[in-house]
Amino acid sequence: MEIENKGKHIIVIGAGLGGLAAACLFASQGYNVSVYEKNSTPGGKMQQLIKKGYRFDTGPSLFTMPFQLQKLFDLCGEKMESYLHYTDLEPLTRYFFQDDIIFDNYLDKQVNEREIDKFAPKSVDEYNNFLKRAEKLYNKTSQAFLFNPLYSLKDFRKLKYFDFLGIDAFSTVSQKVDKKISSPHLRQFFKRFTTYNGSSPYKAPATLNVIPHVELNQGGFYIRGGMYRIVESLLNLGIKLGVEFHYNQIVHQITVKREKVRGIVLKNGTHVKSDAVIANSDATDTILNLLAEGAISNSRKAKQQKIEPSCSGFVILMGCKKRWSQLRHHNVFFSKDYEKEFKEIFDEKHLPQDPTIYVANTSWSDPNDAPVNSSNLFVLVNAPYVYENQDWEELSERYSGFLIEELERRGLEGLEKAIEVFEIINPKDFLELYRSNRGSIYGTSSNDKFSAFMRPKNKLRGIQNLFLVGGSTHPGGGIPLVLQSAFNALELMKRSKT
Ligand SMILES: Cc1cc2nc3c(=O)[nH]c(=O)nc-3n(C[C@H](O)[C@H](O)[C@H](O)COP(=O)(O)OP(=O)(O)OC[C@H]3O[C@@H](n4cnc5c(N)ncnc54)[C@H](O)[C@@H]3O)c2cc1C
Repeated sequence: MEIENKGKHIIVIGAGLGGLAAACLFASQGYNVSVYEKNSTPGGKMQQLIKKGYRFDTGPSLFTMPFQLQKLFDLCGEKMESYLHYTDLEPLTRYFFQDDIIFDNYLDKQVNEREIDKFAPKSVDEYNNFLKRAEKLYNKTSQAFLFNPLYSLKDFRKLKYFDFLGIDAFSTVSQKVDKKISSPHLRQFFKRFTTYNGSSPYKAPATLNVIPHVELNQGGFYIRGGMYRIVESLLNLGIKLGVEFHYNQIVHQITVKREKVRGIVLKNGTHVKSDAVIANSDATDTILNLLAEGAISNSRKAKQQKIEPSCSGFVILMGCKKRWSQLRHHNVFFSKDYEKEFKEIFDEKHLPQDPTIYVANTSWSDPNDAPVNSSNLFVLVNAPYVYENQDWEELSERYSGFLIEELERRGLEGLEKAIEVFEIINPKDFLELYRSNRGSIYGTSSNDKFSAFMRPKNKLRGIQNLFLVGGSTHPGGGIPLVLQSAFNALELMKRSKT
């Protein structure tokens, strides 16, 4: 295979996770791969900030389905352990409810049962049964929807024997959770997992109740040294495999002639020829803006425009010369009215007045991430995607002040005074930094039962040799699914015998 592909040139647009994974995979198959990235560093939304002795991951903080990353290294003929190590955390997450109940969610089943017993004794069995059901749902759906390119007839045949009623596509996450769980605290807990792909539990199909299985049965992990180790590892792997990386290079256009990709044009006017292009740029941006006029039909463009982006995020990074004993590694401060919060984000499109606040405090498990007696707080609130009439400069100042007050009210006393490093990343920043559709952070939303079929596939129909990878493509956002998009691109390339 390596010899067969030798001399064939592949361009990857963007060095986000999907671009890095695709670059490594294709290089391992003998292709000459060049990556063009608009920013000065690889990783896309997966970045890190190091300042005054504090280290922050600015994007993902939870690592799931490690077998996906393992598969990538295996396919590239390398040992993952030579590049990075991951570890589990106990408790995995500490949840703070507004009535002062605290739930330490452990992966250890017995310890976890004891924790639930403290605030919802009647729901211990309900919790376990919910996870059993989630596992069944995962077993029914993963091969058909996640690990399947869903591109040609033979892929869709895998859905043939599917009983759509059996995969909970016709009720929402919230309806199903309410039916199966009686504890209001655990209801909110289980509904939160829908936000992992940027959707609302009050709109998304209950099929997404597979996510608790992925985190709680298969495990949620942390990468030693920080999540950015994933990016550094794939960069090193790519370099080893001969991938060329070009930074500070904006791709302006994908050139297409007679329905076949010919290469790219950079913003500085340089033309670069290639046999294929893999776009890790946001699929909406690729289809609407990077393809030359006439390269794709107006109806295809209109279809793309209709796809709803996932929610965005409002992030504050705070290096604080203080530690709070009540914080763990992952912490969630829940809102009072969850339904209202999602209505504000997805329907009214404004920042929630009473938000659920996620706080990653990685210095809890990795003391190297902050100076002694200090904390590196990464604060994330789900936010609406960029919409007209939002003044993000003014909102950022006001909302960050509000969040600090809110965290103080929820127990982080003396927070404001302790801050010595302070950075904000708002939805407009996500749009401008990574050109993600309306600043979405997980690609497309799953707020509709048909969204699994609406996402652009990993090879664009109608144009030969144009592949799409990343969270805005099939099968969706988040580290493991983005890796899957790169596996799919390789599979579809093999099928097209380029
Ligand atoms: C705050 C936050 C928290 C998250 N938490 C988690 C989590 O805990 N667990 C998890 O699994 N996932 C999480 N995610 C989601 C995860 O980070 C993303 O799904 C994944 O990193 C996206 O990868 P991607 O391949 O889509 O590329 P992106 O990160 O979107 O990168 C695309 C790259 O393409 C470049 N680019 C775009 N257009 C051009 C162009 N025209 N020319 C050149 N370059 C271009 C961009 O600069 C960027 O580097 C989180 C995301 C965010 C932002």
